Amino acid sequence: MSNTYEIIIGLEVHAQLLTKSKMFCACSTEFGLTPNSNICPVCTGQPGALPVLNSGAVDHAIRTALALNCKINETSVFARKNYFYPDLPKGYQISQHEEPLAVKGYIELYDKQGVPKKIGITRVHMEEDAGKNIHSDKCSFVDLNRSGVPLVEIVSEPDMRSPQEAVSYFKKLRAILDCIGVCACNMEEGNLRCDANVSLRKFGADKFGTKVEIKNLNSFRFLEKALSYEVERQTQMLDSGEKIEQETRLFDAVSGITKSMRKKEEANDYRYFPEPDLTPLVIKKDKIKSTEQNMPELPDAKKKRLMSSYGLNEYDADVLSSDVLLASYYEKLVSIVKEPKLCSNWVQTDIMRVLNEQKISIQAFKIKVENMAELLLLVNKGSINQNTAKSVFSEMLSGGRSAKDIVSEKGLLQIQDQSQIEAIVDEVIASNTAQVEQYKQGKTNIAGYLVGLVMKQSKGKANPVIVNEILKKKLS
Ligand code: ADP
Ligand code: ZN
Ligand code: MG
Repeated sequence: MSNTYEIIIGLEVHAQLLTKSKMFCACSTEFGLTPNSNICPVCTGQPGALPVLNSGAVDHAIRTALALNCKINETSVFARKNYFYPDLPKGYQISQHEEPLAVKGYIELYDKQGVPKKIGITRVHMEEDAGKNIHSDKCSFVDLNRSGVPLVEIVSEPDMRSPQEAVSYFKKLRAILDCIGVCACNMEEGNLRCDANVSLRKFGADKFGTKVEIKNLNSFRFLEKALSYEVERQTQMLDSGEKIEQETRLFDAVSGITKSMRKKEEANDYRYFPEPDLTPLVIKKDKIKSTEQNMPELPDAKKKRLMSSYGLNEYDADVLSSDVLLASYYEKLVSIVKEPKLCSNWVQTDIMRVLNEQKISIQAFKIKVENMAELLLLVNKGSINQNTAKSVFSEMLSGGRSAKDIVSEKGLLQIQDQSQIEAIVDEVIASNTAQVEQYKQGKTNIAGYLVGLVMKQSKGKANPVIVNEILKKKLS
């Protein structure tokens, strides 16, 4: 990649608000039902059907705006965004345009050195989702179950400077939405997705270059890949003197490239106008106040608290605070085991590895926190060493038995007894006279080899700290 250009990225994220019913009717929002089974005159755009605003969706949108540090407009206005598409039977989408719910917020990101950077949020507005077109070889189908599902759109300022930073922003946004419980954040089901805008400019230039918008990215990996591809493509074009055209592109996950969908001149003129069937949305000050008072601890605050209460470093606190339930599992674990660092290591390496491998969340994790604590207490007391603990851990995962049961059944208790260890050390010294001689002549790193032999003889159960001590004493 050439270093001539500065990368400019802004994201438009759509999050499905977690409500039982749709935005303007009583139809269910449940995912995966038989196509067109949860629809009604309102969400299929029958003439004369009237929308009724779902106040639960409004509450979620307010929470979202506040968690993103936005200023909430006392009055916001729903508008019709007019366009034709088979998945949009009304011929328009109800959205907010000129007067959105909220403006001027930010999300704070931290780089590897822990330096904070604010990414501006231009606006947060409410809108309804469209239906879904499903294409087969011979024909296409329209499923309107999703039509009218409530969304918030969160539009960022063009403040991101690399694909990785865009991913961090999207991850942080997901952590916040998850934490305040307004979105299921299930990216595979499409209830959190983003459009990525990207342009390049020469370093030092004060004007932005022409941007390209990549539509509908529904995973962090795709976001990063699509942006990296696009940066590369635009770099090559600019280097060879070509002009970037403003356009909308689609990312093809199979080939990893973006393809043009429509150019600017083909862009829709949506003919926005205020929705005549809905009154302006008025949000009173005390509503904002009470929402603020009921806000849970947000990821940034949680992170700071994890650092100060448990002495965790920035990175560990960041990982743990990005998932509310993972953080609470961790905190319960620490409350029993009392070893913040040990617990953090286990949660972040062993437990998170399992979660990733099995593609599950901590809720579905097999080992209950009490059982996990029992295992770590055994480590902490020196009853078993780390290696043994790892194999007990996998045993617990597959069998669902407790750590104590596994340890006693298999006779895995660590040998702490001095005289027992001393006996093995003596044996090893007696049968390795050549190595012992080398050690005495100054090749002290041979000690590691001898420790290894002792450990092997003890079937891995000797306490390695004691082995070391005894061996050093005997050799000197
Ligand atoms: P449009 O009118 O094409 O929708 P907006 O000004 O509403 O454009 O911006 C849409 C998104 O694109 C925002 O997230 C914004 O930060 C981002 N954006 C705007 N200009 C640029 C640019 N030159 N390069 C990258 N992103 C941009
Ligand atoms: Zn409906
Ligand atoms: Mg826009």
